[in-house]
Amino acid sequence: MPRDRSASPSAYHDHHGKVLFVGAGPGDPGLLTVRALDCLRLADVVVYDTLVPADVLDMAAPAAARLAVPRDGREGNGDPGEATGRLLARLAAEGRTVVRLKGGDPAVFGRLSEEMGPVWEAGIPVEIIPGVTAAAAAAAAAGIPLTSRASASSLTILTGHEAADKPEGIDFRQLASLPGTLAIYMGVEQVERWSSELLSAGKPADTPVTIVSHCSWSDQRIAVSTLARCAADFERNNWPSPAVVIVGEVAQPVVGASIALDRGRDRGPLAGRRVLNTRPRGPRDDLDSLVRAAGGRSLRVPVIRIQPPESWQPLDDAIRQADTFDWIVFASANGVRSFVDRLRGAGLDGRSLGTARLIAIGPATREALEHAGFTCDLTPTLFRSEGITAALARAPTPSRFLLVRANRGRDLMRRELEARGHVVREVTAYSSEPVESLDTATVAVIDQMPVDWITITSSLIAESAIRLFGSQIGRWRVASLSPITSATLRQHGIEPTVEAAAAAAESLVAAMADWEIAHAPPPA
Ligand code: SAH
Repeated sequence: MPRDRSASPSAYHDHHGKVLFVGAGPGDPGLLTVRALDCLRLADVVVYDTLVPADVLDMAAPAAARLAVPRDGREGNGDPGEATGRLLARLAAEGRTVVRLKGGDPAVFGRLSEEMGPVWEAGIPVEIIPGVTAAAAAAAAAGIPLTSRASASSLTILTGHEAADKPEGIDFRQLASLPGTLAIYMGVEQVERWSSELLSAGKPADTPVTIVSHCSWSDQRIAVSTLARCAADFERNNWPSPAVVIVGEVAQPVVGASIALDRGRDRGPLAGRRVLNTRPRGPRDDLDSLVRAAGGRSLRVPVIRIQPPESWQPLDDAIRQADTFDWIVFASANGVRSFVDRLRGAGLDGRSLGTARLIAIGPATREALEHAGFTCDLTPTLFRSEGITAALARAPTPSRFLLVRANRGRDLMRRELEARGHVVREVTAYSSEPVESLDTATVAVIDQMPVDWITITSSLIAESAIRLFGSQIGRWRVASLSPITSATLRQHGIEPTVEAAAAAAESLVAAMADWEIAHAPPPA
Protein backbone atom coordinates (compact mmCIF):
# COMPACT_ATOMS: atom_id res chain seq x y z
CA MET A 1 0.00 0.00 0.00
CA PRO A 2 1.43 3.39 -0.88
CA ARG A 3 2.43 5.44 2.12
CA ASP A 4 1.03 8.89 2.69
CA ARG A 5 4.22 10.82 2.09
CA SER A 6 2.64 14.22 2.60
CA ALA A 7 2.24 13.34 6.27
CA SER A 8 5.97 13.09 6.69
CA PRO A 9 7.88 16.06 8.10
CA SER A 10 9.75 18.24 5.65
CA ALA A 11 13.02 16.88 4.37
CA TYR A 12 14.44 20.37 4.70
CA HIS A 13 13.93 20.75 8.41
CA ASP A 14 17.46 20.97 9.64
CA HIS A 15 17.39 20.00 13.29
CA HIS A 16 15.99 16.55 12.75
CA GLY A 17 17.64 13.61 11.18
CA LYS A 18 16.92 12.81 7.60
CA VAL A 19 18.06 10.40 4.97
CA LEU A 20 19.11 11.65 1.56
CA PHE A 21 19.37 8.98 -1.12
CA VAL A 22 21.95 10.50 -3.39
CA GLY A 23 22.93 9.31 -6.85
CA ALA A 24 26.73 9.34 -7.14
CA GLY A 25 26.77 8.89 -10.90
CA PRO A 26 29.11 6.39 -12.56
CA GLY A 27 32.27 7.39 -10.70
CA ASP A 28 33.79 10.56 -12.10
CA PRO A 29 33.06 13.31 -9.55
CA GLY A 30 32.41 15.59 -12.52
CA LEU A 31 29.22 13.64 -13.12
CA LEU A 32 27.74 14.40 -9.70
CA THR A 33 24.86 16.85 -9.63
CA VAL A 34 25.24 20.15 -7.81
CA ARG A 35 22.52 19.01 -5.42
CA ALA A 36 24.44 15.78 -4.74
CA LEU A 37 27.53 17.79 -3.93
CA ASP A 38 25.55 20.04 -1.56
CA CYS A 39 24.19 16.98 0.21
CA LEU A 40 27.65 15.45 0.55
CA ARG A 41 28.94 18.63 2.10
CA LEU A 42 26.02 18.72 4.55
CA ALA A 43 26.29 15.09 5.56
CA ASP A 44 27.05 13.98 9.10
CA VAL A 45 27.31 10.40 7.90
CA VAL A 46 27.82 9.00 4.41
CA VAL A 47 26.72 5.41 3.93
CA TYR A 48 28.11 4.21 0.64
CA ASP A 49 28.40 1.17 -1.58
CA THR A 50 31.83 -0.27 -2.08
CA LEU A 51 31.32 0.53 -5.78
CA VAL A 52 31.47 4.29 -5.13
CA PRO A 53 35.00 5.45 -5.95
CA ALA A 54 37.11 7.27 -3.39
CA ASP A 55 37.19 10.35 -5.61
CA VAL A 56 33.45 10.85 -5.09
CA LEU A 57 33.60 10.07 -1.40
CA ASP A 58 36.27 12.72 -1.04
CA MET A 59 33.64 15.33 -1.87
CA ALA A 60 31.98 14.75 1.51
CA ALA A 61 32.72 17.07 4.40
CA PRO A 62 36.02 16.06 5.97
CA ALA A 63 34.36 15.57 9.34
CA ALA A 64 31.59 13.34 7.99
CA ALA A 65 31.68 9.74 9.15
CA ARG A 66 31.94 7.24 6.31
CA LEU A 67 30.36 3.82 6.47
CA ALA A 68 30.71 1.23 3.73
CA VAL A 69 28.00 -1.34 3.16
CA PRO A 70 28.67 -4.26 0.83
CA ARG A 71 26.75 -3.75 -2.41
CA ASP A 72 25.90 -7.36 -2.82
CA GLY A 73 25.88 -8.26 0.82
CA ARG A 74 24.21 -11.63 0.93
CA GLU A 75 25.55 -12.47 4.36
CA GLY A 76 23.47 -12.07 7.47
CA ASN A 77 19.76 -12.61 7.87
CA GLY A 78 17.08 -11.16 5.70
CA ASP A 79 17.23 -8.71 2.87
CA PRO A 80 20.46 -6.68 2.71
CA GLY A 81 18.50 -3.66 1.48
CA GLU A 82 16.26 -3.71 4.54
CA ALA A 83 19.25 -4.19 6.83
CA THR A 84 20.83 -1.08 5.30
CA GLY A 85 17.49 0.71 5.63
CA ARG A 86 17.37 -0.08 9.34
CA LEU A 87 20.91 1.22 9.73
CA LEU A 88 19.94 4.45 7.94
CA ALA A 89 16.87 4.87 10.13
CA ARG A 90 18.91 4.33 13.28
CA LEU A 91 21.54 6.88 12.27
CA ALA A 92 18.97 9.50 11.30
CA ALA A 93 16.87 8.91 14.43
CA GLU A 94 19.81 10.29 16.40
CA GLY A 95 19.35 13.61 14.59
CA ARG A 96 21.94 13.17 11.89
CA THR A 97 21.85 14.09 8.23
CA VAL A 98 22.52 10.77 6.60
CA VAL A 99 23.55 10.59 2.96
CA ARG A 100 22.97 7.22 1.40
CA LEU A 101 25.33 7.45 -1.54
CA LYS A 102 24.56 5.03 -4.33
CA GLY A 103 26.33 4.43 -7.61
CA GLY A 104 24.58 5.84 -10.68
CA ASP A 105 20.95 6.65 -9.95
CA PRO A 106 19.52 5.44 -6.64
CA ALA A 107 16.30 4.32 -8.31
CA VAL A 108 17.96 2.02 -10.86
CA PHE A 109 18.90 -1.40 -9.47
CA GLY A 110 19.58 0.26 -6.17
CA ARG A 111 17.32 -1.62 -3.74
CA LEU A 112 15.74 1.75 -3.13
CA SER A 113 12.37 0.52 -1.93
CA GLU A 114 13.93 -1.98 0.48
CA GLU A 115 16.22 0.64 1.95
CA MET A 116 13.55 3.34 2.13
CA GLY A 117 11.00 1.09 3.85
CA PRO A 118 12.44 1.13 7.39
CA VAL A 119 13.22 4.85 7.08
CA TRP A 120 9.64 5.77 6.17
CA GLU A 121 8.33 3.46 8.86
CA ALA A 122 10.40 5.33 11.44
CA GLY A 123 8.77 8.58 10.26
CA ILE A 124 12.10 9.98 9.11
CA PRO A 125 12.04 12.37 6.17
CA VAL A 126 13.55 11.15 2.95
CA GLU A 127 14.78 12.91 -0.13
CA ILE A 128 15.99 11.33 -3.37
CA ILE A 129 18.59 13.06 -5.49
CA PRO A 130 18.83 11.47 -8.91
CA GLY A 131 22.15 10.60 -10.48
CA VAL A 132 23.55 9.80 -13.90
CA THR A 133 22.75 6.14 -14.41
CA ALA A 134 25.34 3.81 -15.95
CA ALA A 135 23.48 3.43 -19.26
CA ALA A 136 23.35 7.18 -19.85
CA ALA A 137 27.00 7.61 -18.90
CA ALA A 138 28.04 4.67 -21.09
CA ALA A 139 26.14 5.94 -24.11
CA ALA A 140 27.73 9.34 -23.69
CA ALA A 141 31.19 7.83 -23.37
CA ALA A 142 30.69 5.68 -26.47
CA GLY A 143 29.24 8.58 -28.41
CA ILE A 144 25.96 6.84 -29.22
CA PRO A 145 22.31 7.67 -28.52
CA LEU A 146 20.09 5.40 -26.44
CA THR A 147 17.04 6.02 -28.59
CA SER A 148 16.79 7.13 -32.18
CA ARG A 149 13.87 8.22 -34.34
CA ALA A 150 15.03 5.87 -37.05
CA SER A 151 15.78 2.67 -35.18
CA ALA A 152 15.00 2.71 -31.50
CA SER A 153 11.79 4.06 -30.05
CA SER A 154 12.18 2.41 -26.67
CA LEU A 155 14.86 1.86 -24.08
CA THR A 156 14.75 -1.12 -21.76
CA ILE A 157 16.98 -1.26 -18.74
CA LEU A 158 17.46 -4.82 -17.57
CA THR A 159 19.68 -6.88 -15.38
CA GLY A 160 21.79 -9.53 -17.02
CA HIS A 161 22.23 -11.14 -13.66
CA GLU A 162 18.68 -12.17 -13.05
CA ALA A 163 18.82 -14.45 -16.08
CA ALA A 164 20.81 -16.90 -13.99
CA ASP A 165 18.62 -16.76 -10.90
CA LYS A 166 15.18 -16.83 -12.47
CA PRO A 167 15.09 -17.29 -16.21
CA GLU A 168 11.33 -16.78 -16.16
CA GLY A 169 11.90 -13.25 -14.86
CA ILE A 170 12.86 -11.69 -18.17
CA ASP A 171 10.96 -12.56 -21.31
CA PHE A 172 13.66 -12.43 -23.96
CA ARG A 173 11.17 -13.27 -26.69
CA GLN A 174 9.32 -10.05 -26.00
CA LEU A 175 12.51 -8.07 -25.62
CA ALA A 176 13.85 -9.40 -28.90
CA SER A 177 10.79 -8.15 -30.74
CA LEU A 178 10.86 -4.62 -29.27
CA PRO A 179 12.11 -2.03 -31.75
CA GLY A 180 14.43 -0.55 -29.23
CA THR A 181 17.64 -0.48 -27.24
CA LEU A 182 18.54 -2.79 -24.40
CA ALA A 183 20.82 -1.54 -21.65
CA ILE A 184 22.06 -4.54 -19.73
CA TYR A 185 23.36 -3.95 -16.22
CA MET A 186 25.31 -6.52 -14.24
CA GLY A 187 25.62 -8.40 -17.49
CA VAL A 188 29.27 -9.14 -18.29
CA GLU A 189 29.46 -12.33 -16.27
CA GLN A 190 26.29 -13.65 -17.89
CA VAL A 191 27.02 -12.60 -21.46
CA GLU A 192 26.88 -16.16 -22.77
CA ARG A 193 23.42 -16.63 -21.36
CA TRP A 194 21.62 -13.42 -22.33
CA SER A 195 23.18 -13.21 -25.78
CA SER A 196 22.15 -16.76 -26.70
CA GLU A 197 18.64 -16.21 -25.31
CA LEU A 198 18.23 -13.04 -27.36
CA LEU A 199 19.55 -14.84 -30.45
CA SER A 200 17.22 -17.77 -30.03
CA ALA A 201 14.34 -15.35 -29.48
CA GLY A 202 15.00 -14.00 -32.96
CA LYS A 203 17.20 -10.97 -32.45
CA PRO A 204 19.47 -10.66 -35.53
CA ALA A 205 22.98 -12.04 -35.11
CA ASP A 206 24.54 -8.83 -36.38
CA THR A 207 22.76 -6.59 -33.86
CA PRO A 208 25.44 -4.16 -32.64
CA VAL A 209 26.58 -4.51 -29.04
CA THR A 210 28.66 -1.89 -27.21
CA ILE A 211 30.27 -2.58 -23.87
CA VAL A 212 31.54 0.12 -21.57
CA SER A 213 33.55 -1.05 -18.61
CA HIS A 214 34.54 1.19 -15.68
CA CYS A 215 32.62 3.99 -17.34
CA SER A 216 34.04 7.43 -16.46
CA TRP A 217 36.80 5.88 -14.36
CA SER A 218 40.34 6.60 -15.50
CA ASP A 219 40.66 3.04 -16.83
CA GLN A 220 37.39 3.16 -18.79
CA ARG A 221 37.29 0.80 -21.76
CA ILE A 222 34.83 0.68 -24.61
CA ALA A 223 34.44 -1.96 -27.28
CA VAL A 224 31.98 -2.88 -29.97
CA SER A 225 30.88 -6.32 -31.07
CA THR A 226 27.77 -8.07 -32.35
CA LEU A 227 25.17 -10.17 -30.60
CA ALA A 228 26.55 -13.35 -32.16
CA ARG A 229 30.13 -12.61 -31.30
CA CYS A 230 29.97 -10.68 -28.04
CA ALA A 231 30.14 -13.72 -25.73
CA ALA A 232 33.44 -14.83 -27.25
CA ASP A 233 34.74 -11.28 -27.58
CA PHE A 234 33.96 -10.25 -24.03
CA GLU A 235 35.29 -13.46 -22.58
CA ARG A 236 38.55 -13.21 -24.48
CA ASN A 237 39.10 -9.66 -23.38
CA ASN A 238 38.23 -10.24 -19.76
CA TRP A 239 36.09 -7.15 -19.26
CA PRO A 240 36.17 -6.02 -15.68
CA SER A 241 33.00 -5.22 -13.76
CA PRO A 242 31.24 -2.87 -13.42
CA ALA A 243 30.35 -2.78 -17.06
CA VAL A 244 27.19 -1.96 -18.94
CA VAL A 245 26.22 -3.39 -22.30
CA ILE A 246 24.11 -1.59 -24.90
CA VAL A 247 22.39 -3.79 -27.46
CA GLY A 248 20.59 -2.47 -30.53
CA GLU A 249 21.01 -0.51 -33.74
CA VAL A 250 22.03 2.60 -31.78
CA ALA A 251 25.12 0.72 -30.60
CA GLN A 252 26.37 0.71 -34.19
CA PRO A 253 30.13 0.68 -34.10
CA VAL A 254 32.00 3.72 -35.22
CA VAL A 255 34.67 1.51 -36.77
CA GLY A 256 34.82 -2.20 -37.61
CA ALA A 257 32.41 -4.80 -36.33
CA SER A 258 34.43 -6.53 -33.68
CA ILE A 259 36.57 -5.50 -30.72
CA ALA A 260 38.17 -2.74 -32.69
CA LEU A 261 37.41 0.20 -30.54
CA ASP A 262 38.96 0.84 -27.19
CA ARG A 263 38.56 4.51 -26.58
CA GLY A 264 39.84 4.67 -23.07
CA ARG A 265 40.04 7.88 -21.11
CA ASP A 266 43.44 6.68 -20.13
CA ARG A 267 45.33 9.47 -21.81
CA GLY A 268 47.65 12.12 -20.57
CA PRO A 269 51.09 11.99 -18.97
CA LEU A 270 49.83 10.23 -15.83
CA ALA A 271 47.74 7.70 -17.78
CA GLY A 272 47.36 4.50 -15.82
CA ARG A 273 49.27 5.89 -12.85
CA ARG A 274 47.88 5.68 -9.35
CA VAL A 275 48.79 8.58 -7.11
CA LEU A 276 48.48 8.32 -3.38
CA ASN A 277 47.45 11.75 -2.09
CA THR A 278 48.37 11.99 1.57
CA ARG A 279 46.81 15.39 2.23
CA PRO A 280 43.98 15.69 4.71
CA ARG A 281 40.55 15.79 3.16
CA GLY A 282 39.45 19.31 2.41
CA PRO A 283 36.54 20.74 0.51
CA ARG A 284 38.65 22.67 -1.94
CA ASP A 285 41.75 20.63 -2.55
CA ASP A 286 42.53 20.48 -6.24
CA LEU A 287 45.36 17.94 -6.21
CA ASP A 288 43.00 15.06 -6.97
CA SER A 289 41.33 16.79 -9.89
CA LEU A 290 44.68 17.86 -11.34
CA VAL A 291 45.90 14.26 -11.17
CA ARG A 292 42.73 13.12 -12.90
CA ALA A 293 43.06 15.81 -15.55
CA ALA A 294 46.55 14.46 -16.31
CA GLY A 295 45.02 10.98 -16.84
CA GLY A 296 45.97 9.50 -13.47
CA ARG A 297 43.94 8.06 -10.63
CA SER A 298 44.11 9.60 -7.25
CA LEU A 299 43.73 7.67 -4.04
CA ARG A 300 43.26 9.85 -0.99
CA VAL A 301 44.89 8.49 2.15
CA PRO A 302 45.29 11.37 4.61
CA VAL A 303 48.25 10.89 6.92
CA ILE A 304 47.55 13.99 9.01
CA ARG A 305 44.37 15.33 10.54
CA ILE A 306 43.30 18.95 10.88
CA GLN A 307 41.85 19.70 14.30
CA PRO A 308 40.77 22.73 16.27
CA PRO A 309 43.60 24.42 18.18
CA GLU A 310 44.06 23.63 21.86
CA SER A 311 42.22 26.86 22.66
CA TRP A 312 40.30 29.31 20.49
CA GLN A 313 41.00 32.14 22.88
CA PRO A 314 44.14 33.61 21.24
CA LEU A 315 42.51 33.60 17.79
CA ASP A 316 39.24 35.03 19.13
CA ASP A 317 41.09 37.81 20.94
CA ALA A 318 43.12 38.65 17.84
CA ILE A 319 39.95 38.71 15.72
CA ARG A 320 38.31 41.19 18.10
CA GLN A 321 41.36 43.43 17.75
CA ALA A 322 41.80 42.77 14.03
CA ASP A 323 41.62 46.45 13.11
CA THR A 324 44.70 47.17 15.21
CA PHE A 325 46.96 45.25 12.79
CA ASP A 326 48.52 46.61 9.62
CA TRP A 327 48.92 43.18 8.09
CA ILE A 328 47.23 39.84 8.65
CA VAL A 329 49.23 36.96 7.21
CA PHE A 330 47.55 33.62 6.42
CA ALA A 331 49.90 30.67 6.21
CA SER A 332 47.36 28.19 4.82
CA ALA A 333 43.82 27.73 3.59
CA ASN A 334 42.98 25.93 6.84
CA GLY A 335 44.01 29.03 8.74
CA VAL A 336 41.71 31.13 6.56
CA ARG A 337 38.79 28.79 7.22
CA SER A 338 39.24 28.85 11.02
CA PHE A 339 39.68 32.62 11.02
CA VAL A 340 36.59 33.24 8.93
CA ASP A 341 34.49 30.73 10.92
CA ARG A 342 35.42 32.34 14.24
CA LEU A 343 34.89 35.84 12.83
CA ARG A 344 31.41 34.99 11.59
CA GLY A 345 30.68 32.96 14.72
CA ALA A 346 31.30 36.12 16.75
CA GLY A 347 28.73 37.94 14.62
CA LEU A 348 31.41 39.97 12.83
CA ASP A 349 32.26 40.42 9.18
CA GLY A 350 34.95 41.96 6.98
CA ARG A 351 34.27 45.47 8.37
CA SER A 352 35.87 44.53 11.68
CA LEU A 353 39.24 44.12 9.93
CA GLY A 354 39.38 47.89 9.44
CA THR A 355 42.35 48.88 7.33
CA ALA A 356 44.36 45.72 7.95
CA ARG A 357 45.74 44.34 4.70
CA LEU A 358 45.60 40.61 4.01
CA ILE A 359 48.41 38.39 2.78
CA ALA A 360 48.15 34.81 1.59
CA ILE A 361 51.27 32.70 1.57
CA GLY A 362 50.31 30.87 -1.62
CA PRO A 363 47.67 30.50 -4.32
CA ALA A 364 45.47 28.00 -2.46
CA THR A 365 45.42 30.26 0.59
CA ARG A 366 44.53 33.24 -1.58
CA GLU A 367 41.74 31.25 -3.17
CA ALA A 368 40.36 30.37 0.27
CA LEU A 369 40.38 34.06 1.21
CA GLU A 370 38.65 35.08 -1.98
CA HIS A 371 36.13 32.26 -1.61
CA ALA A 372 35.26 33.71 1.80
CA GLY A 373 34.67 37.09 0.19
CA PHE A 374 37.94 38.79 1.13
CA THR A 375 40.39 40.45 -1.18
CA CYS A 376 43.97 39.39 -0.87
CA ASP A 377 46.25 42.42 -0.92
CA LEU A 378 49.45 40.52 -1.52
CA THR A 379 50.54 37.04 -2.61
CA PRO A 380 54.29 36.66 -2.71
CA THR A 381 55.83 35.20 -5.83
CA LEU A 382 57.90 32.79 -3.79
CA PHE A 383 55.37 30.61 -2.04
CA ARG A 384 56.92 30.28 1.39
CA SER A 385 57.71 32.38 4.43
CA GLU A 386 60.83 33.80 2.76
CA GLY A 387 58.62 35.10 -0.05
CA ILE A 388 56.44 36.96 2.40
CA THR A 389 59.31 38.59 4.23
CA ALA A 390 60.88 39.61 0.93
CA ALA A 391 57.61 41.03 -0.33
CA LEU A 392 57.25 43.02 2.88
CA ALA A 393 60.78 44.41 2.86
CA ARG A 394 59.46 47.87 2.20
CA ALA A 395 56.71 47.90 4.81
CA PRO A 396 57.22 50.90 7.11
CA THR A 397 58.65 49.92 10.50
CA PRO A 398 57.32 49.22 12.91
CA SER A 399 54.24 47.64 11.28
CA ARG A 400 51.93 45.44 13.32
CA PHE A 401 51.55 41.88 12.00
CA LEU A 402 49.12 39.13 12.90
CA LEU A 403 50.31 35.70 11.76
CA VAL A 404 47.51 33.13 11.49
CA ARG A 405 49.13 29.72 11.47
CA ALA A 406 49.12 26.05 12.46
CA ASN A 407 50.23 24.67 15.81
CA ARG A 408 53.49 23.66 14.22
CA GLY A 409 55.61 24.83 11.38
CA ARG A 410 58.59 27.12 11.06
CA ASP A 411 58.73 30.40 12.94
CA LEU A 412 61.13 31.85 10.42
CA MET A 413 58.67 34.52 9.37
CA ARG A 414 58.17 35.84 12.87
CA ARG A 415 61.91 35.96 13.48
CA GLU A 416 62.63 37.77 10.22
CA LEU A 417 59.83 40.28 10.68
CA GLU A 418 60.97 40.99 14.22
CA ALA A 419 64.55 41.33 13.03
CA ARG A 420 63.31 44.08 10.73
CA GLY A 421 61.77 45.85 13.68
CA HIS A 422 58.13 44.87 13.19
CA VAL A 423 55.71 43.89 15.94
CA VAL A 424 54.44 40.36 15.47
CA ARG A 425 51.63 38.44 17.12
CA GLU A 426 51.18 34.78 16.24
CA VAL A 427 47.96 32.84 16.78
CA THR A 428 47.25 29.16 16.26
CA ALA A 429 44.16 28.74 14.12
CA TYR A 430 44.20 24.97 13.80
CA SER A 431 46.37 22.08 14.70
CA SER A 432 47.59 19.35 12.41
CA GLU A 433 48.30 15.97 13.93
CA PRO A 434 49.71 12.81 12.41
CA VAL A 435 47.20 10.02 11.81
CA GLU A 436 48.07 7.19 14.23
CA SER A 437 47.22 4.26 12.01
CA LEU A 438 45.54 3.36 8.74
CA ASP A 439 42.26 1.47 8.78
CA THR A 440 42.32 -2.05 7.43
CA ALA A 441 40.20 -1.19 4.37
CA THR A 442 42.76 1.42 3.30
CA VAL A 443 45.66 -0.96 3.86
CA ALA A 444 43.87 -3.56 1.73
CA VAL A 445 43.27 -1.10 -1.09
CA ILE A 446 46.92 -0.04 -1.10
CA ASP A 447 48.05 -3.66 -1.10
CA GLN A 448 45.73 -4.63 -3.93
CA MET A 449 46.21 -1.69 -6.23
CA PRO A 450 49.69 -0.83 -7.32
CA VAL A 451 50.71 2.66 -6.23
CA ASP A 452 52.98 4.56 -8.61
CA TRP A 453 53.37 7.90 -6.86
CA ILE A 454 52.99 9.29 -3.38
CA THR A 455 52.64 13.03 -2.90
CA ILE A 456 54.33 14.60 0.12
CA THR A 457 53.21 18.16 0.70
CA SER A 458 54.73 19.11 4.06
CA SER A 459 57.35 17.99 6.52
CA LEU A 460 54.74 16.71 8.96
CA ILE A 461 53.17 14.71 6.14
CA ALA A 462 56.60 13.34 5.23
CA GLU A 463 57.22 12.14 8.77
CA SER A 464 53.76 10.68 9.20
CA ALA A 465 53.84 8.92 5.80
CA ILE A 466 57.22 7.36 6.58
CA ARG A 467 55.90 6.09 9.90
CA LEU A 468 52.69 4.69 8.37
CA PHE A 469 54.03 3.21 5.13
CA GLY A 470 57.56 2.31 6.17
CA SER A 471 59.67 0.63 3.53
CA GLN A 472 56.75 0.57 1.06
CA ILE A 473 57.60 4.16 0.14
CA GLY A 474 60.88 2.90 -1.30
CA ARG A 475 58.88 1.14 -4.03
CA TRP A 476 56.94 4.26 -4.99
CA ARG A 477 57.96 7.40 -6.76
CA VAL A 478 57.91 10.35 -4.39
CA ALA A 479 56.70 13.82 -5.38
CA SER A 480 57.75 16.52 -2.92
CA LEU A 481 56.12 19.95 -2.73
CA SER A 482 59.08 22.06 -1.65
CA PRO A 483 62.78 22.10 -0.78
CA ILE A 484 61.90 22.03 2.92
CA THR A 485 59.73 18.97 2.48
CA SER A 486 62.48 17.32 0.39
CA ALA A 487 65.02 18.02 3.14
CA THR A 488 62.81 16.25 5.69
CA LEU A 489 62.46 13.27 3.34
CA ARG A 490 66.22 13.09 2.88
CA GLN A 491 66.75 13.17 6.65
CA HIS A 492 64.84 9.88 6.66
CA GLY A 493 66.84 8.44 3.79
CA ILE A 494 64.25 9.03 1.08
CA GLU A 495 65.29 10.81 -2.07
CA PRO A 496 62.30 12.51 -3.74
CA THR A 497 61.82 11.49 -7.36
CA VAL A 498 60.64 15.00 -8.23
CA GLU A 499 60.22 18.32 -6.46
CA ALA A 500 57.65 20.94 -7.46
CA ALA A 501 59.10 24.12 -8.99
CA ALA A 502 56.71 26.15 -6.83
CA ALA A 503 54.78 25.05 -3.75
CA ALA A 504 51.44 24.65 -5.51
CA ALA A 505 49.39 21.62 -6.54
CA GLU A 506 49.73 22.56 -10.24
CA SER A 507 53.52 22.51 -10.01
CA LEU A 508 53.52 19.21 -8.14
CA VAL A 509 51.39 17.50 -10.79
CA ALA A 510 53.46 19.13 -13.56
CA ALA A 511 56.63 17.70 -12.00
CA MET A 512 55.16 14.18 -11.97
CA ALA A 513 53.90 14.60 -15.52
CA ASP A 514 57.31 15.79 -16.74
CA TRP A 515 59.01 12.82 -15.11
CA GLU A 516 56.57 10.40 -16.76
CA ILE A 517 57.08 11.99 -20.16
CA ALA A 518 60.87 11.86 -19.77
CA HIS A 519 60.72 8.18 -18.73
CA ALA A 520 58.05 6.98 -21.20
CA PRO A 521 59.15 4.06 -23.34
CA PRO A 522 59.82 5.11 -26.94
CA PRO A 523 56.82 4.49 -29.23
CA ALA A 524 56.93 1.00 -30.75
N1 SAH B 1 22.28 2.42 -9.57
C1 SAH B 1 23.28 2.09 -10.57
C2 SAH B 1 23.23 0.64 -10.97
C3 SAH B 1 23.60 -0.30 -9.87
S1 SAH B 1 23.66 -1.98 -10.41
C4 SAH B 1 23.09 3.01 -11.79
O1 SAH B 1 22.08 3.68 -11.90
O2 SAH B 1 23.99 3.08 -12.60
C5 SAH B 1 25.37 -2.18 -10.78
C6 SAH B 1 25.58 -2.22 -12.27
O3 SAH B 1 25.55 -0.91 -12.79
C7 SAH B 1 26.91 -2.78 -12.67
O4 SAH B 1 26.93 -4.19 -12.70
C8 SAH B 1 27.06 -2.20 -14.05
O5 SAH B 1 26.28 -2.90 -14.98
C9 SAH B 1 26.43 -0.82 -13.87
N2 SAH B 1 27.43 0.19 -13.55
C10 SAH B 1 27.53 0.92 -12.45
N3 SAH B 1 28.57 1.78 -12.50
C11 SAH B 1 29.15 1.57 -13.69
C12 SAH B 1 30.27 2.13 -14.37
N4 SAH B 1 31.00 3.09 -13.81
N5 SAH B 1 30.58 1.66 -15.59
C13 SAH B 1 29.85 0.71 -16.18
N6 SAH B 1 28.78 0.13 -15.59
C14 SAH B 1 28.43 0.57 -14.38
